[in-house]
Amino acid sequence: MPTQSISQFTSVYGPVHSWRYGRSLGIDLLGPVSTCSFNCVYCQLGEIQSRTTQRQIFVPTEQIIRDLQAFAPWDVEVITLSGNGEPTLALNLAEIISHIKQITHKPVLVLTNGTLLGDPEVRTALSLADKVSVKLDAISPDGLRRINRATPDLNWQEIWQGIQQFRLEYRGKMSIQTMMLTSWDDVRKHNYIQLMQSCRPDEIQLNTPTRPKPLKHQIEARGNHISTESLLYPVKKLKRVSADILQAVAAEIYDATSIPVRCAPC
Ligand code: SF4
Repeated sequence: MPTQSISQFTSVYGPVHSWRYGRSLGIDLLGPVSTCSFNCVYCQLGEIQSRTTQRQIFVPTEQIIRDLQAFAPWDVEVITLSGNGEPTLALNLAEIISHIKQITHKPVLVLTNGTLLGDPEVRTALSLADKVSVKLDAISPDGLRRINRATPDLNWQEIWQGIQQFRLEYRGKMSIQTMMLTSWDDVRKHNYIQLMQSCRPDEIQLNTPTRPKPLKHQIEARGNHISTESLLYPVKKLKRVSADILQAVAAEIYDATSIPVRCAPC
């Protein structure tokens, strides 16, 4: 199943340019097999190969530190834990964040799908990060099944409670990132705004798929920011909304909540 063995695998990639965070070096805690508790319909990695909520060590901390040293002096604005799946599944998450900060003195950002935030150990590990961006596409059990295709042991209410608990405890900058695949009706907008009013993230990031979905798993897609035409593997284009729609929804959310909303460049 993996296209690379763990010895060929490089846990550090980039730098890539992120519209949300600027020049960023990526750290992959998952290894050559894509691993996530979701299998989102729009995932840029392709179909997730290992779907699980079980935490374990996928890439030894020493290997990540070794790979990171090769990128010195880390001329980036942020170091981002993301990569080949869901980073909070890695049991060495806290240890890795601490080492990255000690070695590079750069801010650390974690992109998470939020499914493990109900676990106090995960929240403690994430408390070491400077910024955490939490995915929230689905605002109902039905959305979780259709958009994120979550593992069967996850339920929407528990995920939302975990996100709320994390918001209460976390002292860094927390954002909510939401993918819009189609226009939202008034009910959907109203319900989303209510959730944001109760959670009060520091920022909301509205996105729409700007990268195509590979037909098969592609580890190269971890840091992929190039156009569909330049890709060397087969992909399918995804449903997306226009910049006008994204910005109109962003304005409505901001008017109702006063929470800053940023939109992906379309
Ligand atoms: S949470 Fe991220 S890595 Fe996991 S399936 Fe969704 S887009 Fe892919």
